[in-house]
Amino acid sequence: MNINEIQNSKINYIDFDNLDFGQTFTDHMLVCHYREGNWQIPEISPYKPLTLDPSASVLHYGQAIFEGMKAFKDNNGQIWLFRPEENFKRFNLSAKRLQIPEFPESYFFEGLNKLLYLDKEWIKPGQENSLYIRPFVFASQASVQASAANEYIFMIICAPVKSYYTGGEINVLIAEKYSRAANGGVGFAKAAGNYAAQFYPTSQALKKGFQQIIWTDADTHQYLEESGTMNIFFKIKDTLVTAPTNDRILDGVTRKSIIDLAKRKGIKVEERPIKVEEIKLAHQEGTLGEVFGTGTAVIVLPINSFSHQNKTYKLPSKTTLAESLKKSLMDIQYNESDDYFNWRKAVV
Ligand SMILES: *Cc1c(COP(=O)(O)O)cnc(C)c1O
Repeated sequence: MNINEIQNSKINYIDFDNLDFGQTFTDHMLVCHYREGNWQIPEISPYKPLTLDPSASVLHYGQAIFEGMKAFKDNNGQIWLFRPEENFKRFNLSAKRLQIPEFPESYFFEGLNKLLYLDKEWIKPGQENSLYIRPFVFASQASVQASAANEYIFMIICAPVKSYYTGGEINVLIAEKYSRAANGGVGFAKAAGNYAAQFYPTSQALKKGFQQIIWTDADTHQYLEESGTMNIFFKIKDTLVTAPTNDRILDGVTRKSIIDLAKRKGIKVEERPIKVEEIKLAHQEGTLGEVFGTGTAVIVLPINSFSHQNKTYKLPSKTTLAESLKKSLMDIQYNESDDYFNWRKAVV
């Protein structure tokens, strides 16, 4: 691997106490080109803009996918990744669905480790800090032919982030018209276009005072699937329920970790389809407890209310379960508890 280090770090110009999510990036980035049927040797270079041909295929047909993962620093200065092989597997699952050549595992992990080592000062210790890692790949071939490209660029960029805090309530709107994903589509993949397609319905919901949309199944809008870009959990009586993964639902690393942690705490977990009517009924009967979303960026995010057919359903203000699961997960991520599931990976 070629490494071209920066001359002068910009780290001293960064206000680490006031970071907007995903706006500030570290000193270095990793770039790897695919051409003539092969991934070339990756290169680490100073973070800088790209030069692209205006006909670059991604700009026209959106052939692009990404991942989102985090690195953490413990109180001894050791850096940890959380289940990174899950992100790598999902990266190539997404790539395959978008007809993008799969990326080699050794390049991914060697590149990531070297990049994190070079930018290690950007990862601050303490549970309020982490480094958000964004691997992505896009079609760079200069061509407006509507077919899979023969040239791609793989990159990893990293952003220091503070723990997610909205300061306000999370009131969500259950989708009745729009949908996020269809059967046989790309909902299970982190395909760039999935997110673009959510911006319009989400901004309509924001205008009405909601923070997010709960996506329902495209066919009937009767089943609850995901909340924004998070998986979603409902506590009904003493059971935690979440939708099963399928080709419309993103198989979240946080989702499956929360399921394992909840089971370990002795909580019953069910992965099964959940109807909107079921949670409305549970709300009416007083058996609907907490509702929360899960994802790498937020980890666990309690939801305060949901709305459906112009009616709002307030949720109990008690978020004990969400908080305890979040804490257990973060304690593992920051090396502050036993790693009983073997999820931590040291960066050396
Ligand atoms: C990334 C993502 C998630 C969460 O996945 P994690 O692996 O937990 O970060 C959930 N839903 C969607 C649509 C996503 O893009």
